[in-house]
Amino acid sequence: AGFLPFEHEPYHDFANPATAQAQRDAFALVRQQYVGHTFPLYIGGQRVEAESGGTFEVRNPADTREVVWHFPKASAQQRDDAIAAAQHAFETWRFSNPFQRASIFKRAAELLRARRMEFNAVMTLENGKNWAETDGEVAESVDHFEVFARETLRWAEGKPVYPMPDEHVTTVYEPLGVVVCISPWNFPSAIPLGMALGALAAGNTVIWKPASETPLSSLLMLELLFEAGLPRDTVQFLTGTDDVLGDPLVDSPHVRMIAFTGSKEIGCRIVERAAKMQPGQRWIKRVMAEMGGKDPTVVCADGDVEAAAVGIVQAAFGYAGQKCSACSRVIAEDSVYDALLDRVTELARNLKVGLPEDNAATGPVIHAGSAERIHRAVEAGQHTARLVLGGERPEVRGAQGEPVEGGYVSPTIFAEVDPRDPLFQEEIFGPVLAFSRARDWQHAIDLANDSEYGLTAAFYSRDPHKISEARRRMHVGNLYINRKCTGALSGTHAFGGYGMSGTNAKVGGPDYLFWFLQTKTVAQRY
Ligand code: GLU
Repeated sequence: AGFLPFEHEPYHDFANPATAQAQRDAFALVRQQYVGHTFPLYIGGQRVEAESGGTFEVRNPADTREVVWHFPKASAQQRDDAIAAAQHAFETWRFSNPFQRASIFKRAAELLRARRMEFNAVMTLENGKNWAETDGEVAESVDHFEVFARETLRWAEGKPVYPMPDEHVTTVYEPLGVVVCISPWNFPSAIPLGMALGALAAGNTVIWKPASETPLSSLLMLELLFEAGLPRDTVQFLTGTDDVLGDPLVDSPHVRMIAFTGSKEIGCRIVERAAKMQPGQRWIKRVMAEMGGKDPTVVCADGDVEAAAVGIVQAAFGYAGQKCSACSRVIAEDSVYDALLDRVTELARNLKVGLPEDNAATGPVIHAGSAERIHRAVEAGQHTARLVLGGERPEVRGAQGEPVEGGYVSPTIFAEVDPRDPLFQEEIFGPVLAFSRARDWQHAIDLANDSEYGLTAAFYSRDPHKISEARRRMHVGNLYINRKCTGALSGTHAFGGYGMSGTNAKVGGPDYLFWFLQTKTVAQRY
């Protein structure tokens, strides 16, 4: 709508020595510019420092001895100020021109293109992604800006209705009000950005609450938007503790909508609390909750085993499996099971566990505590399934050869996993993959669907009949045929799940903005 044709932002090729050097230089720059700093909140267009609550430290998960930066713990007063500021700004922003909003997003895309290496480096230092993983996410953020610019204009047009002779009738979409966006650490740029842009594109104002592990990836994205011309009072940026910024934000009668991405436990808690009417509340709160996954890859007897093995390893072990889209179950037909297991194991064994800043294939998980939790699941799994790879605690060494402090888990594979096993049913959020054997391809689809989740799945076959059955029967929001189940591209692979994976809001898709809008019918007689 009104723009040049869309193209997805290309990825950097780090095999090119000059590109790799540029990424290394960006780490040096980021360490110089940002490490040790204390960053502000934004409330009502002002940069605001910590009050009584003080600040908290953000640590590098690759080596938690390193404190990278500090952020304020917002006080209850600052939170309430932020809600009031968002309400106030809504009265102007709701009537803003969609062309203005779209051109801000376009300009932000241009600004981000020029700073991708820097954004990559910041993200690595906050959440331990390696170069390719950060690069993919920052490229997705550029795509979000481009896609939401177009979607802003598309939704501004309204939709046609069936006419009647004596009335002029229009259907128009109007914003809701104050939207609280609560986001996770695993995609600290693209996920909060998707939710915030959805809200802003529709004319809502935002309270942006990033994960405490990864606030700078969010803040830089927001400051980029400000630089691109976003009125500074439209987004309130709050960091801090859950007691101040969790339930109280969700419960506020002045909040119209909560957009959440994160764990199933918190998502369900938000759904429940938001359903309760508070004194003074004048609407039924809308909740978007995107949660976990236990995503299967099905490999049929006629599937391309080599392609499947490569796709499985990328989807299971990329970013140490800490994606809700990650492949955590492989369900293979009996006749290809052993060959596939061998090949996946061989590929996974070659993944180097190490520092993400050095671009190791497998970096740390987000906390030492998460590593403990994953190791406990692996220990328990050894009583019920066959451990084929991993399970040990790898030691990673720093530049001086000393062991670093971080939660490292090596790629881990279990075979002969029973569908009732927690390894098959429970999201581990780490580099742990469960293989299960299917009698035939129909059984494989049944096993894939045997989950409370339904986010992504991959299906490998060359048989048109099996593929069309998979298309009809696989109970997931994102089904990928003959390709891996991670790496949804904004604008193309609308992303969001079925079942307990969430509300199926499909970020980056053609209906996403509808979540942030309400519909007004105006019938006029002359
Ligand atoms: N959109 C990402 C992908 O397709 C996953 C997002 C997530 O894990 O939360 O891989």
